[in-house]
Amino acid sequence: MAGIDNLPPLRDVIATHGLSARKSLGQNFLLDLNLTAKIARQAGDLTETDVLEIGPGPGGLTRGLLAEGARKVLAIEKDHRCLPALAEIAAAYPGRLEVIEGDALEINPLEHLTPPIRIAANLPYNVGTELLVRWLTPKEWPPFWSSMTLMFQREVAERIVATPGSKAYGRLAVLSQWRSDARIAISLPPGAFTPPPKVSSAVVHLTALPAPRYEADAKTLEYVVAKAFNQRRKMLRAALKGVHPDIEDLLTSADISPTERAEQVSLEQFCALARALKDARA
Ligand code: SAM
Repeated sequence: MAGIDNLPPLRDVIATHGLSARKSLGQNFLLDLNLTAKIARQAGDLTETDVLEIGPGPGGLTRGLLAEGARKVLAIEKDHRCLPALAEIAAAYPGRLEVIEGDALEINPLEHLTPPIRIAANLPYNVGTELLVRWLTPKEWPPFWSSMTLMFQREVAERIVATPGSKAYGRLAVLSQWRSDARIAISLPPGAFTPPPKVSSAVVHLTALPAPRYEADAKTLEYVVAKAFNQRRKMLRAALKGVHPDIEDLLTSADISPTERAEQVSLEQFCALARALKDARA
């Protein structure tokens, strides 16, 4: 018995099903069920919502989410070797765990869940940022999720919560803070994982705001911020050259000096620039 449920300890599950970690799939497993239950608690009250989990692996966080009362968990896992272990969890929690084998980048979770849902995951590092940006930039807002509780490398977590003027401030900070509240909830040393990764990790909790902090078109904002930070050491009039022939005027109309660098520009100013660019292109 592992403490939070009647299933075997995760080390036994891994041994029974031969789940040696594969680097190519970003596999660093959490085996401490008290820790996975703690992460699940950060996701808030799970009893009234469905939860989407990406990359359940042997099921440590899945078990945490279910033990903390999640109404239903939809877990998308690419590694078919994990499916028998996940089937054992599904049997222990009848009707509350649905597992889909596949690539999270290809599967539409809304075909299986009723929004608004919560997202909770110890993300595979190779797809984590891409999924986060996708979840943050749908055309319509509010999105299909009400909160996201996500594990990242510590450095990525710091980029999500960074403020203007800091080294970590960039595309992820602007897109995350534009339409959500983001905070680092738990910090974890490499030793919390099996095998231990080279770097520390952190759980970030993001709560969707009812409306964006400032009006802007998601695709235009994403585009202009990516361009601006792509050459972060250049003045904006140079970094954004090619974005629009009148870029200096557009920057000025957004209250941004054309000689400014991207890391000094606030979220409000980036949104104003995205609006000006969209109008100028119309
Ligand atoms: N949730 C487990 C835990 O906390 O122990 C495993 C986390 S491990 C960091 C990432 C998991 O994501 C692995 O099980 C891996 O097989 C899976 N994975 C990797 N790429 C994926 C993808 N594109 N779609 C779905 N799952 C993926």
